[in-house]
Amino acid sequence: MTSGTADPVRARLTVLSGPSGVGKGTVVAEVRRLYPHVWVSVSCTTRKPRPGESDGVQYYFLTDAQFDQLIVDDELLEYATFAGHRYGTPRKPVDQHLAAGRPTVLEIELQGARQIRSSMPEAQFVLLAPPSMRELRDRLLGRRTEGPPDLEARMARAEIELAAADEFDQVIVNDDVERAAAELVTLIEAAS
Ligand code: ADP
Ligand code: 5GP
Repeated sequence: MTSGTADPVRARLTVLSGPSGVGKGTVVAEVRRLYPHVWVSVSCTTRKPRPGESDGVQYYFLTDAQFDQLIVDDELLEYATFAGHRYGTPRKPVDQHLAAGRPTVLEIELQGARQIRSSMPEAQFVLLAPPSMRELRDRLLGRRTEGPPDLEARMARAEIELAAADEFDQVIVNDDVERAAAELVTLIEAAS
């Protein structure tokens, strides 16, 4: 099926997970460039915006009370706490884009991916892996967005996330952004 004639019944959801700093955001930006028809969910978070991030673009930046209210109202498809902050996927936009037949991507961590595995087992699950733990640390350090405690929390989570590789349908190693993005586009298109 071509991207222009998407069939709501066959619309597919791709869940992309992987350790913080592996390059998910970078690869997803390249996927959008290669395949503009794809829709990427915008999550809610209680973490503070990084320089250059704005509300409604990278995330919806919420207070804890606002996040709690979304849970009470059943507005989140999944949610989790990661490195001291809360993250969740707004349910309605995902439902709407899938109903419209649009290939849809969630970029979320492992606990959220497991929740989607239970609620939407027809989704495809892709793990983005680093070439090595050393390279992962270098990328996190190079990004200069986290201080030492948050960086160590993210490296500790990375061990757990990579140990769960067997739970994913596909693993893509992000040693090269263009190649990793092309692989991901192939998987998304094959599922749509
Ligand atoms: P994530 O969204 O997984 O936390 P980012 O996309 O923010 O990760 O990438 C973390 C850092 O690694 C950024 O500085 C980015 O430019 C860099 N990066 C991403 N992919 C690669 C790659 N294949 N090779 C080298 N550096 C990369
Ligand atoms: P960051 O703070 O670096 O933007 O994101 C930290 C982690 O939270 C990343 O692994 C990212 O994939 C994950 N994340 C972002 N949005 C969501 C979400 O809506 N749900 C879950 N479960 N994880 C998310």
